[in-house]
Amino acid sequence: MSAHLRPTLATLPAYVPGRNVPGAIKLASNETPYPPLPSVLEQIAAAAGAVNRYPDNFATELTTALADKYGVDAEQVRVGCGSVSLCTQLVQAVTDADEEVMYAWRSFEAYPIISAVSGASSIQVPLRDHVHDLDAMAERITGKTRLVFVCNPNNPTGTAVGRDALVRFLRAVPSDVVVALDEAYREFVADPDVPDGLTLLDEFPNLIVLRTFSKAYGLAGLRVGYAIAADPALTAALRQTQVPFAVSTIAQAAALASLEPQAEKELLERVAGLVQERTRVREALLTFGYEVPPSQANFVWLPLGDATTEWAAGCEERQVIVRGFAGAGARVTIGAPDENDRLLAAAEVLAPPA
Ligand code: PMP
Repeated sequence: MSAHLRPTLATLPAYVPGRNVPGAIKLASNETPYPPLPSVLEQIAAAAGAVNRYPDNFATELTTALADKYGVDAEQVRVGCGSVSLCTQLVQAVTDADEEVMYAWRSFEAYPIISAVSGASSIQVPLRDHVHDLDAMAERITGKTRLVFVCNPNNPTGTAVGRDALVRFLRAVPSDVVVALDEAYREFVADPDVPDGLTLLDEFPNLIVLRTFSKAYGLAGLRVGYAIAADPALTAALRQTQVPFAVSTIAQAAALASLEPQAEKELLERVAGLVQERTRVREALLTFGYEVPPSQANFVWLPLGDATTEWAAGCEERQVIVRGFAGAGARVTIGAPDENDRLLAAAEVLAPPA
């Protein structure tokens, strides 16, 4: 007899990580193409010498550094093992079986998985023109809705909602329903109309903002992210649902080193370069005849529909790995300029018929 597993597991979509293919360029996982700064590597090496000890379970120094950076109390900040872990902790903290988690679709592919594993029902509200339809989402809230994820900018479409639409939505959401504003790509936002979620915390105590060191700060392999909320009850709940010692000593040290003023300045200069590349790549793709919604993240979305899988395979034949979502579209991470050139060369050949 084989082991009994929860029947839910058989129904879960698989989380598909971007593929690593030797020799090919990987533009599939929204990572930064640049290795850690020397100053960050130094702290990683130093921290490695102390791994016979458990990490600080409360990431005290990093929490304090983040609180100082953003001018909030340390009790409003919670560090986690990547922001995907904080998403999971949040679902576990606020939903019981048969209660609802709402999010746009298509959005971050972890939301349906973590909701289902927690026993919550997913309410998926279709994007409109590749953008969150916040009015439709507000209308779908029921007495069972406990949590709404708003991914801004949205993964995988790169689109972002502006301040007015977001504030109107937050005002429409009952105050006991938690809104998680997933700002994993916040540092890549160039449009001044896209609000920094932290500026909304004072008005909305049910709001929690999620950020990560995986993207702009280039620490995807170390797993560290954070949540900030006005209401310390929310961050305390995240503490209750975390796996003990989830954030490693090395991850804490690397994140702290990345917040040092000189390091952060250099990291954000890299971000500015990637934002310029985003414009260049999108404009070239438009010239080739692709539809490309405006992106505020470090990737662009090509809504290729049924042609997606073939297109992604065509890129792979040309040694460029993108992330295809079968039947929907392809998400292409913005890499270093030479990597983007390779992508554009492939995309030009594979361009849709005029
Ligand atoms: N949120 C969004 C929207 C993402 O795209 C990702 C990474 N793909 C995450 C959260 C998770 O990031 P991490 O766990 O690496 O912090």
